Amino acid sequence: TDKHWQSAFEVVGRLREAGHEAVIVGGAVRDRLMGLPAHDVDVATAALPEEVKAIFPKTADVGIAHGTVMVLDPSPPVEVTTYRTEGTYTDHRRPDHVEYVTSLKEDLRRRDFTMNAIAIRGDGSLYDPFGGEKDIALGIIRAVGDPDERFGEDALRMLRAVRFAAKTGFKIEPGTGAAIARHAGSISHVSVERIKMEMDKIWTSGRAGTAAQLMGESGLAERLPLMNLAFSGENLGFWQKFGKPVQPVEGWALLYHLAGARDGNPYKLSNAEKRSVRDILTSCRIRSERPYSPMDAYRLPEPALMAGARFAHLTGKIGNPDSPDQISLLKNTLPISSLRDLAITGNDLIAWSGRKGGPWVKEWLANIEEAVVSRHLENTREDIKGWFLDGIESEG
Ligand code: ATP
Ligand code: MG
Repeated sequence: TDKHWQSAFEVVGRLREAGHEAVIVGGAVRDRLMGLPAHDVDVATAALPEEVKAIFPKTADVGIAHGTVMVLDPSPPVEVTTYRTEGTYTDHRRPDHVEYVTSLKEDLRRRDFTMNAIAIRGDGSLYDPFGGEKDIALGIIRAVGDPDERFGEDALRMLRAVRFAAKTGFKIEPGTGAAIARHAGSISHVSVERIKMEMDKIWTSGRAGTAAQLMGESGLAERLPLMNLAFSGENLGFWQKFGKPVQPVEGWALLYHLAGARDGNPYKLSNAEKRSVRDILTSCRIRSERPYSPMDAYRLPEPALMAGARFAHLTGKIGNPDSPDQISLLKNTLPISSLRDLAITGNDLIAWSGRKGGPWVKEWLANIEEAVVSRHLENTREDIKGWFLDGIESEG
């Protein structure tokens, strides 16, 4: 936002007043040249982390091992990173250590793509030694320097290229693309946590189909669990229709659905994410067979119901997906939205029946809940009492 830019320019100004070179770098510069809003605006400087901390009274050590200090006094805060190159790379993963340098060009040289290797100076002018502005104008994702070397250093960059292609609609420059195909095998060295973060951005990019195609063609998908199955040629159409989901977890749900996988958690989804995937797939299974009932709407969260209907549509099981309004209406007109909304409690059942508590209380609460939700029973104490006493009588 404008506030993020103001904060960053202020930090650049103060570093410069203290005699240090400082610029704005990274994704924010790229997004600005593309006319997109930026979420964080990062500063790079020749000053060492200790010097940065001496200039700004309020800082936090967020990534001091990588030379990053978070400056807290203009608000919103700004991440300030000392110009650095990266040390040796082992196993195609991130470098073991970083080395500070005094040249901005050296710092930009270690960045992945030309569009991510542009700096804005304090006066607003660009420093763009690798031609990033031109590549943005051409709509091209191009590795900085020799692509084989760059993907050899850090295999995640291949997936970042795919992510940026999905986000921007840009084409991967042919030489860069050919290098991805040559290095695809080394994607298996990258941690699942880093892969998951990229995939979450791919799911919400609005061009998951582009990503699935690029990953299939380059050989990246083959090396990645579930994606080897879900990104096969015959599935590309589903990803193309996937569009822009409300939440990233819908991408994981479609991946599981198309891969036919029921268990295993190769991308370390959180428990909340696993539950959402399950709810979406349950919703999809139901909606593929019939319209949602009030009980479905009661049991399943609204986003899962919506995603389930979309999936049933995109896999060809139903003509039109339910509109979000239809699903909201179903959800909002339920007689109760949780057990707490029932006019009675388990203690009432115990008192009315004269029986001792036990597992039967929970079972009867569930019966009552279902009868109320599906409008076979009014949610009043009298109606529930009558229905319950008749029920246990006929039970014997
Ligand atoms: P986003 O908009 O998702 O934040 P970003 O380009 O800002 O995208 P970050 O991961 O925030 O991505 O990284 C900030 C900058 O650091 C990038 O623009 C790029 O210059 C550099 N960078 C990040 N990851 C890598 C990497 N794996 N290899 C080389 N440079 C990288
Ligand atoms: Mg960023």
